[in-house]
Amino acid sequence: MIRQAVIMAGGLGSRLKGRTDTMPKGFIELGGEAIVRSSIRKLISAGIEEIIIGTGHCSEWYEKLADEMHILTCVRNNEYADTGSMGTLLRCAENVTGDFLLLESDLIYDSVGLFALINEQRSNVILASGATASGDEVYLEADSDANLVRHSKNRNDLSGIYGELVGISKLTKKTLDAMVAHCNAHLGDEPRMEYETAMSAVSAAAEPGDKIGILKLDDYAWREIDDETHLAMAAEKVFPEIVCREASRAVRREVLLNPGPATTTDSVKYSQVCADICPREHEFGDVMEWISHELSLMAGKPDAVETVLFGGSGTAADEVMVSSCIPDGSKTLIIDNGAYGTRLSKIASVYKLDTEVWKSSGYLPLDVPALKEKIAGGGFTHLVMVYHETTTGLLNPVPELCRFAREHGVTTIVDAVSSFAAIDIDMDRDGIDFMASTSNKNIQGMAGIGFVFCRKEALEKTASYPMRNFYLNLWDQYQYFKKTHQTRFTPPVQSMYSLRQAIIETKVETIAGRYARYSACWDVLVKAVDELGLTMLVPREAQSKLITAIIEPDTPAYSFDTLHDFARAHAFTIYPGKLSDANTFRIANIGDIRPEEMKAFTVLMKEYFRGIGL
Ligand code: PLP
Ligand code: MG
Ligand code: MG
Repeated sequence: MIRQAVIMAGGLGSRLKGRTDTMPKGFIELGGEAIVRSSIRKLISAGIEEIIIGTGHCSEWYEKLADEMHILTCVRNNEYADTGSMGTLLRCAENVTGDFLLLESDLIYDSVGLFALINEQRSNVILASGATASGDEVYLEADSDANLVRHSKNRNDLSGIYGELVGISKLTKKTLDAMVAHCNAHLGDEPRMEYETAMSAVSAAAEPGDKIGILKLDDYAWREIDDETHLAMAAEKVFPEIVCREASRAVRREVLLNPGPATTTDSVKYSQVCADICPREHEFGDVMEWISHELSLMAGKPDAVETVLFGGSGTAADEVMVSSCIPDGSKTLIIDNGAYGTRLSKIASVYKLDTEVWKSSGYLPLDVPALKEKIAGGGFTHLVMVYHETTTGLLNPVPELCRFAREHGVTTIVDAVSSFAAIDIDMDRDGIDFMASTSNKNIQGMAGIGFVFCRKEALEKTASYPMRNFYLNLWDQYQYFKKTHQTRFTPPVQSMYSLRQAIIETKVETIAGRYARYSACWDVLVKAVDELGLTMLVPREAQSKLITAIIEPDTPAYSFDTLHDFARAHAFTIYPGKLSDANTFRIANIGDIRPEEMKAFTVLMKEYFRGIGL
């Protein structure tokens, strides 16, 4: 698994003087985006967790970018004016922990090159193209096994030309260390060494298995931008070509306005297309361990939370909590103000737990003072509640009630299936002991994984609880995973990879940023609802801004199915209501959706409702 990338960005860009006196080359824009930003975006989409940028000239530009994107780590080459790219790579080497991608900062390229390198069998391999006629080609000579022999800008230096160096490579840590050693050994005679030189030297000296291979994509669209001619070529020809090729691989867009599975990015979809692996391999265990660790960090402070993964949906995670965290002899209060609260109480009754159900309206806020009185005086050991009632869009006051419950010694169990990764949650701060969510809602992954977040001390207490079930037992799975980095039973392998990608993308957007985007979509929806004179079921201030239940107009001309089919024909999927005592339809705004798309949906919605005389 390739987790890191290094971008060498220390250079002066002296052949683009005028543009690069006070700015690094990577910040030259094409199509309204700095070329390095576009490269970073493609690396993130390819599943890179950390991007190390070797900076030098005008390093503050990169440092500012790193403040905005926590996936970036800047390493400054203070001697950038007197060293070549290898001098910059040398300084980044310490931060590299395993196999990685190495890129130049002044490139535009088709993202397919990253896919090809990552999926290439050889672990050291550099990307090459056919002839570009760019005027600054670095030619590559290869041996009969397509391994790098030497490179030169002068074709006459080589006994044959295999391809042109693109400036994107996949290397092992071992090869990097050998390149660093080579550079250090030649500092005196070659202080301005370029990284290609170190690669050629290392490949020539390497044992057969450690040679650096060349992967040639004949018709590959890319350009390095070193001078004005390159920039003109890039703007006129190469950049539009790249945009066109990448667009041809976009998956047909369907915007899901149902409350999960939510719309995913293409990169999350594509992350499932990867090499087969037996989930008992270490490499896969590391992926699951990373997922579990990163999810824990999203739910609380470092070391405060353990996240246990199960193959299953959100309901599976709910059932894990209810069946594994409430021992015999407990007395549990379950708050039920919607379909998911009802479901939790059904699960509790299947396990024959001693429960009392607090029934409340599906669309009015909970009576907090009355509930507090109940919690304080009812002799309860456990409180079970739903954070966000997806039935109606009602957001329950979990922090207030759970903190209160904890102060009264009550263990708190929360269904955060449709709130986690949108609403800011810190389990310690918010008084939550156990919390369930799933891979296909706000975290924006594929369906198939349920997870249970546990406050460590609360989890430890469950160690002695007799098992009431097998597959869904929390402590059994936790312990097994802790020891082996494996789930006890077959995990949904490809869904795990897509969850990993979804986590990377969530970290880039941040949970606060994601909620801001969701809220912006909600604002667009609510404006249209108001303009149409429709009514929302839940008072605005009690809404989650994640899903909206809208009361159906009282006219025989209205038909949910017709509205649904009309929206669906335009690639929007909407959802029926779920209350027995109010006729509603629901529009969710979670997932990879943008305000412009919600705007397009509201145009359709208006067309439909005006068509039936509203
Ligand atoms: N809890 C809540 C609050 C939900 O919104 C949902 C699904 O929408 C679930 C539980 C059940 O999740 P799943 O359908 O994945 O079992
Ligand atoms: Mg060049
Ligand atoms: Mg260059």
